[in-house]
Amino acid sequence: MPIGDIKAAAKRKAKEKVVSTAKRKVTGGRGGGGGSRGGNNKSGKKKSPILIIVLVVLVIGAGFAAWHFGFLDGLLGGQEADAPAVVAVDGTMEIHFIDVGQADATLIITDAGTMLIDAGSRRSGPRVVEYLQELGMTEITYVIATHPHEDHIGGMDLVLNGFTIGQVLLPAVSHTTRTYERMIEAIETHNIPTYAPQVGHEFEMGGAIFTVIHPGTEEWNNLNDWSLSLRMAFGNFSMVTTGDAEHPAERAMMDTGLYLGADVLRLGHHGSRTSTGQEFLDMVAPSIAIIQVGTDNRYGHPHDDVMERLEAAGLRIYRNDLHGDIILTTDGTNIDIQTERAG
Ligand SMILES: [Zn+2]
Repeated sequence: MPIGDIKAAAKRKAKEKVVSTAKRKVTGGRGGGGGSRGGNNKSGKKKSPILIIVLVVLVIGAGFAAWHFGFLDGLLGGQEADAPAVVAVDGTMEIHFIDVGQADATLIITDAGTMLIDAGSRRSGPRVVEYLQELGMTEITYVIATHPHEDHIGGMDLVLNGFTIGQVLLPAVSHTTRTYERMIEAIETHNIPTYAPQVGHEFEMGGAIFTVIHPGTEEWNNLNDWSLSLRMAFGNFSMVTTGDAEHPAERAMMDTGLYLGADVLRLGHHGSRTSTGQEFLDMVAPSIAIIQVGTDNRYGHPHDDVMERLEAAGLRIYRNDLHGDIILTTDGTNIDIQTERAG
């Protein structure tokens, strides 16, 4: 399988590169600006091992403190936090932006578990199930239902009934549709643990650190603005994904003070003009944009204004309607993207 080949190639490079990047980040953090670089011990006098250990602990501690207090500053002051310290990773991660037409389904595969963010629409749900089965999957560690709209949870009952699920994460909002009921019935039938995390909640899978960046405690009238949104960091690589969150939710994310910078932005609301505001785009400052959107959809997604914004920022743009399935592989430093079609 080509994926296996990509994984094997990326794996060889991963360890060394990411560790060195992590060191650079930690020593370069706000609290560690004293120039005590890890690699300078060869020249000059030998330092005692204890002194070196103490120095390393101090530097890492300072980096952590900078990150930790930066986070709190941000929460209190509504300003952007510093980037969290990079955690070195082994192995690789794959992110599959599955072509489900005018709907969302993103699969994350790490060495220690899998995550499915949304399960396509009622119509494309079978395609999601088939896709996961073709990969040989029988279980999913985390399933995320970003919000209760049909183009995100339409295939959820099929997925929840067809695989062994570790946990379902979803926002604390319900809906009156039969689609939503089917999802809840599947959760109850299989006794699947569910959890509605809030802003700032962090969890780990295979070295990847996921931070919930939305929603918080506020109530939203627009279901899209309830979208459970994440920033995920794997080594030096990062991605922000926001479901169908629109401008007001993006504003709320910026106001959390959480660090939102990321290499990849999986665009909100299929590239609709209601999402991906300039300020939000500037804050995430991605180099790659992914748009989960269907060919000739009746909403005119992605919107020209958004496309212009992405092009002005010089982003590499991948779209399911043009590229088919999009598979991103990373070792925590390098990014490789394979697409089903040339686009
Ligand atoms: Zn949607």
